[in-house]
Amino acid sequence: MKPLKAIIFDMDGVIYRGNSAVEGVPEAIDKLRKRGIASLFLTNNATRTRAQYAKRLASIGIAASENDIMTSSHGVASYILEKYGAGKSACIIGEGGMLKEAKKSGIEILALSSTSVPDFTIVSLDRSLTYEKAAAAHRFILQGSHFIAANSDPTLPLEHLSAPGSGSIVAMLEKSTGKKAEVVGKPNLFMLNELLREHKLAPKDAAFVGDRLEIDILMANKAGLYSILVLSGVANAADAKKTKGALKPKAILDSAAELPKFLGL
Ligand SMILES: [Mg+2]
Repeated sequence: MKPLKAIIFDMDGVIYRGNSAVEGVPEAIDKLRKRGIASLFLTNNATRTRAQYAKRLASIGIAASENDIMTSSHGVASYILEKYGAGKSACIIGEGGMLKEAKKSGIEILALSSTSVPDFTIVSLDRSLTYEKAAAAHRFILQGSHFIAANSDPTLPLEHLSAPGSGSIVAMLEKSTGKKAEVVGKPNLFMLNELLREHKLAPKDAAFVGDRLEIDILMANKAGLYSILVLSGVANAADAKKTKGALKPKAILDSAAELPKFLGL
């Protein structure tokens, strides 16, 4: 492996699980930084803004600026701006972080009760989802509003077991409308490329550390980053051993706490 300039971390299942830090990870990040390896963060979760994630990381002892973090809330807003241009409207199934990032990017937010059809219907995790909200999104999509999904993760990992994720809400609307959502989050390379570009990194300069084979490892391998699977989240050792091709990680560690030792630091 070439000497790394940066390590990009998935968050849920890698840095923390539920509200607790994965043991030893804040200390490992500190050690990497002292040896000149930057730590960046990329999450498919759209419920918080980048600034809120910076605070959350600080609360478990990891310093990070907004620019070090990419979330699918910020990613969706950037994606719409870059691919479709400014001055667009959207209705949103999602939480505060998604709404704030869209507003900050100048996207006009239409209420789900709006009589005009928004340019985009953005679907992300909404833990206050109601049948009424789902029916409004369904109607807009059938009326020609472009269906954008923050991610297709089926579950939201919790400290014990899991809950339905954003992808399960997306799947419901794909089923009801017969339309496929355009998915911005991992394994799409868009958010990763934004982060690499912002930090002037080439894919070969960085490793990606994640806990889901079909999302994190697939994305890292497609993008040409060194892919590291950790077993502190969704995937277990048996899953990891069975994988082939684009889903096969370059390395498997019990947790990100082992990174300094793995890199010989
Ligand atoms: Mg994860």
